[in-house]
Amino acid sequence: MSSNGLDAKTFFEHEGGITYNDFILLPGYIDFSLDEISLETYLTRNIKIKRPVISSPMDTVTESRMAISMAMLGGMGVIHYNNSIESQAKEVRRVKRYENGFITEPVVLSPNNTIRDVDALKEAYGFSGIPITEDGTLNARLVGIVTKRDIDFEADRTKKVRDVMTTQLVTAPAGISLAEGNRILRESKKGKLPLVDKQGRLVSLMSRTDLLKNADFPCASKSKDKQLIVGAALSTREDDKERLDELVKAGVDVIVIDSSQGNSVFQINMIRYSKKKYPHIDIVGGNVVTVSQCKSLIDAGADALRIGMGSGSICITQDTLAVGRAQGSAVYHTAKFAREYANIPVIADGGIAHIGHIVKALALGASTVMMGGLLAGTSESPGEYFYEGGVRVKKYRGMASHEAMEKGGGKRYLSSEDRIKVAQGVTGTVVDKGSVINLVSYLMQSLLHSLQELGYRSIQELRNGIYDGTLRFEKRSQSAQVEGSVHNLYSFKEPHLGLLRMGR
Ligand code: GDP
Ligand code: 5GP
Repeated sequence: MSSNGLDAKTFFEHEGGITYNDFILLPGYIDFSLDEISLETYLTRNIKIKRPVISSPMDTVTESRMAISMAMLGGMGVIHYNNSIESQAKEVRRVKRYENGFITEPVVLSPNNTIRDVDALKEAYGFSGIPITEDGTLNARLVGIVTKRDIDFEADRTKKVRDVMTTQLVTAPAGISLAEGNRILRESKKGKLPLVDKQGRLVSLMSRTDLLKNADFPCASKSKDKQLIVGAALSTREDDKERLDELVKAGVDVIVIDSSQGNSVFQINMIRYSKKKYPHIDIVGGNVVTVSQCKSLIDAGADALRIGMGSGSICITQDTLAVGRAQGSAVYHTAKFAREYANIPVIADGGIAHIGHIVKALALGASTVMMGGLLAGTSESPGEYFYEGGVRVKKYRGMASHEAMEKGGGKRYLSSEDRIKVAQGVTGTVVDKGSVINLVSYLMQSLLHSLQELGYRSIQELRNGIYDGTLRFEKRSQSAQVEGSVHNLYSFKEPHLGLLRMGR
């Protein structure tokens, strides 16, 4: 029986310039159920995670909120570096300190503050349940709590908190389990549960509104000390050696050297320096798209490679500089080389425009995918929502857009010290996609279905299929692409948040 389609090697030997849309994967044989499929994968040489998804180090994508959610979901977030060393380290620390269901840095006031101060917090952060400690700091003795009900009908907003706060408190000892905290919140029917140490000092807070969210995340990516794992971006500049020290002090698990063309003496030196000083921290080198670029960074000591040049949704590098590579070809060739040469994983970065692209990136040999645009516009991404043409949107911008470079984001691009800055990215908007928790859960469920259609029980099996020839590829002509998408309808409703259309 002759096989259908082509094996990966034959396909990519004959075709150059392949993007995710240019090929399709042929179905295999199903003899297992969805819950038998494992999505476990290597993020770097030494770190395994349960879901193959990483959020990009961009200032409109990943700060601590995104990184926390990504790690809870089984992936990881990489904190961007378009900020001061202190701010980046602080974001890393927030992820490392995070405990699911517990607000570990609650906003606190002192009895001497006024109701107006509570109003201001409500205005700025959206909540008004504020624990009151002796001196208004965390880790000081808890003396009361102020909630909406204490202040709703108070006409005099200059009144002191001490005169309105509730002092009969239900508290719990710090260190209790999530399940125990949830039980107390349910039974006490209170809105907030402050957790205190033996001396009665406030340590953290639980909120009733989070009860539903306080589910367990069995796939969460955690380090040996049971904290969520987090990555942080580093540039190749000399003064980022200090940044590296602070990130390591803050507990970072993975350093991602963020450079648009990774094959440079600057990056090689930075990788060697980091590996020598901190051999226990895995380093992701990049970005690269060719085999010789990969070899340089692997020889320097990289523990994983980030693949992609100019394929990102906000990128204009290929148009502007005429350098880069179609992402499908880039991922296939680099992943194959990295596996054969050093057996290290690659991250397919950029151009993941909709769900199907995730499985395609994995089917080309990537171990994980990194996403910017797809995760931007969720409630966990930095920035405020606003309306554009009646649609609720958030800003999403390239780190080499003029706007981001003004803030220092151009460190990724060697031109940023030039007097005239050449933009390699644009600023735009993306639609509100709700919470990243729902979005990524949807993506991962759909990835399970995809592996099942292909007949593979794990990402590892899929990867074997690429190299033993059982995974079959076929070129998608222009008309095949039209045929394979929704067509001939006057209108239709998309299944999830416009994800399908985003790829067009
Ligand atoms: P409140 O009753 O006005 O405090 O607001 P809700 O309890 O309805 O919502 C508060 C939301 O903000 C919850 O999801 C909290 O987890 C979250 N949150 C984050 N940080 C803090 C904080 O420092 N204090 C409080 N009260 N909530 C916080
Ligand atoms: P997306 O997931 O939106 O398609 O692509 C995100 C990726 O684009 C990032 O992870 C990063 O590699 C790349 N990127 C971010 N900002 C810029 C930029 O301004 N110019 C270029 N060329 N690439 C960018």
